[in-house]
Amino acid sequence: MPDTPYLTIDLDKIEHNARTLVALCAAHGITVTGVTKCVCGHPEVARAMLRGGVASIADSRLANIRRLKAAGIHQAGMLLRLPALSVADAVVETVELSLNSEPAVLARLSAAAERRGIVHGVILMVDLGDLREGAWPTEFTTLVQTARNLSGILLRGIGTNLACFGGVVPTATNMNQLVEFAVAAERINGRPLEWISGANSSALELIASGRMPARINHARLGEAILLGRETVQRKAWPGTHQDAFVLHAEVLELNTKPSMPIGERGEDAFGHRPSFRDRGPMRRVLLNVGREDVMVEGVTPLEPGVEILGASSGYLVLDVSRAKRDLSVGDELRFALDYGALLAAMTSEYVAKHLVGGGSRAVADRR
Ligand SMILES: *Cc1c(COP(=O)(O)O)cnc(C)c1O
Repeated sequence: MPDTPYLTIDLDKIEHNARTLVALCAAHGITVTGVTKCVCGHPEVARAMLRGGVASIADSRLANIRRLKAAGIHQAGMLLRLPALSVADAVVETVELSLNSEPAVLARLSAAAERRGIVHGVILMVDLGDLREGAWPTEFTTLVQTARNLSGILLRGIGTNLACFGGVVPTATNMNQLVEFAVAAERINGRPLEWISGANSSALELIASGRMPARINHARLGEAILLGRETVQRKAWPGTHQDAFVLHAEVLELNTKPSMPIGERGEDAFGHRPSFRDRGPMRRVLLNVGREDVMVEGVTPLEPGVEILGASSGYLVLDVSRAKRDLSVGDELRFALDYGALLAAMTSEYVAKHLVGGGSRAVADRR
């Protein structure tokens, strides 16, 4: 086992989740691209997704896509985050396809592609109300016209992203709107679009219920594959694993202490004034994981009777008074992670990454 804290990454569970969701989507005419931004473009996670049948890999960061390509994963060809003007050259050099919403960026990408004698593929994003990326509907046809007139750009599809900023739920209504925009784009462009990219992990219910419009043919799935959840209500998706990732930390100190701080009180380490309830003396544990390792609000103890009291940069403070196990210094405790906690733990260089399954023979990987 690696030094604590560490994250176990079960590649077989990720592969299984991918296979389950790819089958669901395939039954409804939808091709799946696996999204690796939450795991920093981890090549072995991408390989597990590909073994599970995803058609390609997308990420929101060029650095992650470079890591994937350097590991030989040539299917990592889609950039999800809107390209910055300043990196247009790097974008056309690194990926075959990017999501876009700004005419000025399309012009820059086109010029960069022309200089290289290539054509850069784009999916144009329309904002159907979630209020993150995408041209506003009234501007969308202008954006399509811009793309059409740029010789270094190939319009390969249109898409939308929901349930990410505004928490807007995908429905037959907003997905039919997307199809209408696709029809308009095809009319302007004079030929059919390859992709109508309507879905992310929030669309699983809509797809499974058979209410997703038939012309939606592409999904970009991250959380559903990694954590086995749809993202409207964060329900565990039937037939998938929710525990492909588990965080392990070690008991540094174990003591019976009061539940109320003693003395005059000001701010804590992060500028907050915490409140406490007097519950009398409790068995308290300090673990070697904190805010520099994980988003503490997103972890859940996998052991009954263990309660998180709070955290600083390097410590997690627990009440283990009702723990079933008789804990000692040096014991490991395990935690489930939500999307935010997984993102932070994958990004933290202080959390070792320990691969299991997938023929990895339990190799510790400490990027
Ligand atoms: C992150 C992201 C996704 C994947 O979302 P999940 O909810 O993890 O499936 C899809 N599309 C875009 C544009 C993204 O940024």
